[in-house]
Amino acid sequence: MSDPLNTVVIVGGGTAGWLTAGLLAAEHRQGLEVGLEIILIESPDVSPIGVGEGTWPTMRTSLQTMGVSETRFIRECDASFKQGTRFSRWTTGDDDHYYHPFAPPIRFNDFDLARHWQPLRDKVNYADAVTPQGRACEHALAPKQITTPEFAGNLNYGYHLDAGKFSKFLERHCVEKLGVTHIVDNVVSVNGADNGDIESLSLQSGETVNGDLFIDCTGFAALLLGKHYEVPYRSMQDYLFNDRALAVQVPRSSPDDPIASTTLSTAQRAGWIWDIALPNRRGVGYVHSSAHTSDEQAEADLRSYLASTGSAEFSESCAPRRIDFSAGHREKLWHRNCVAVGLSGGFVEPLEASALVMIEQAANMLSEQLPPNRSIMDIVAKRFNRRFLRHWHSIADFLKLHYVLSRREDSEYWRDNRGAGSIPADLQESLELWRYRCPRYQDFSHVDELFPAASYQYVLYGMNFETEWPSKRRQSDTASRATAGELFEENIRLTKQALQALPTNRDLINKVHEFGFQKI
Ligand SMILES: Cc1cc2nc3c(=O)[nH]c(=O)nc-3n(C[C@H](O)[C@H](O)[C@H](O)COP(=O)(O)OP(=O)(O)OC[C@H]3O[C@@H](n4cnc5c(N)ncnc54)[C@H](O)[C@@H]3O)c2cc1C
Repeated sequence: MSDPLNTVVIVGGGTAGWLTAGLLAAEHRQGLEVGLEIILIESPDVSPIGVGEGTWPTMRTSLQTMGVSETRFIRECDASFKQGTRFSRWTTGDDDHYYHPFAPPIRFNDFDLARHWQPLRDKVNYADAVTPQGRACEHALAPKQITTPEFAGNLNYGYHLDAGKFSKFLERHCVEKLGVTHIVDNVVSVNGADNGDIESLSLQSGETVNGDLFIDCTGFAALLLGKHYEVPYRSMQDYLFNDRALAVQVPRSSPDDPIASTTLSTAQRAGWIWDIALPNRRGVGYVHSSAHTSDEQAEADLRSYLASTGSAEFSESCAPRRIDFSAGHREKLWHRNCVAVGLSGGFVEPLEASALVMIEQAANMLSEQLPPNRSIMDIVAKRFNRRFLRHWHSIADFLKLHYVLSRREDSEYWRDNRGAGSIPADLQESLELWRYRCPRYQDFSHVDELFPAASYQYVLYGMNFETEWPSKRRQSDTASRATAGELFEENIRLTKQALQALPTNRDLINKVHEFGFQKI
């Protein structure tokens, strides 16, 4: 075979670098006599970004694929269970709230329960009518019991985790168990080959590292795809205004505090605050638009949130860390023999925690479609780019939905967010359609859709969007009305069962630390 792909060089030791290394090594090294050589180079001077503490349920599969024990992961990364997001004050700015849980509505695959919920909308909120998960989260319950095997769940779940500990945990696993070579050094130059590919990297120590495929996981620096290849950045700032975050870590007032099992997202005058509960601390941050508020005001709003959530003393003494970003992505993610994964490829605000799942998707596609030689690499690159540009587009639409549906009038920020020019055309069209029917599978035709119809339903109906199902057809729909009635009853039964059987998030975490889960 000409130009075989033998060595992959990853630059960057943040979550993107180590997740990519782990997923590639699990497939292309583990159990093989002659495996792929995987080298990860990490700067001793530039720390990983250290935020990114909410994952999707996909992380369970990623950890399992890498051969990680869930018990060890929970113990060593201070992880807790996440079952979705609770959005507060997004709709009216008063005390409204709704859940976007990870579990889809009951029998979502073959039955349109959402339309049968429309006449009941004043009696029960959408999430509570169709899944037990919102109610379980309201009581800070865990998604499983201590007797449930590793990675299995009674309810669907992902994790909240300590980002710093997570990348160190992955590093240990990749190096000790999966045979990834780790070099701690600064990349000081990128050396091109005659054909325009990257041939090697020069390190500060004087060493040169050659490779066949280079993965840029250098975060916002985008050293390979951005600086070396100058692949342009496509801004999404016209739709998504937020460009700054103020982040703090808040100590717990008592070791027995309940641990919320959703990310709390509370809308503010010029953005929103995330609140992520770990067993020993909370991670809190105010994501906002610098064009709509000053740094001083943003900090005051963050402090007042902390004070209102029981951290009054801390809010006076804390010094938040400021992180600037620009919503958008590279015009392509794979160019020649270089792929950007993680922040180097793009970033939008963490409203639905979509960054880590994009890393997992990229690493999985790389792993599955890894070209065995250079000659077919451009074909794989074209497909990779097509897929990830579609993902960026769909993330922008879904995030924007949260802003478009808001009826808040208390600041320019919310009014500007509903301005016609700021709404992506596809989203605008979909909203027109959904006034007359609920979002369903056919609206999202790809199997790897990040935000399927269920997610749209939770946000639309959580924020009181009205779908007007023609009343004559509704009356003639006797058979499916009966089925819907049974499903609503079934959900009530499952909810009671979940509330009785599930321990609190705190209890389960304590037990995992003490006893561990059963291994499957
Ligand atoms: C405010 C905020 C909140 C977020 N919240 C979430 C969330 O809840 N959920 C979620 O999924 N995502 C979230 N994210 C995104 C998430 O943090 C990132 O996607 C994730 O941490 C991956 O980062 P990274 O590895 O791409 O970059 P980084 O963590 O920045 O790592 C970059 C690496 O490159 C190395 N490097 C840089 N230059 C060189 C060089 N010259 N030589 C060698 N090495 C070099 C550095 O040493 C470092 O190891 C959030 C992001 C922000 C900004």
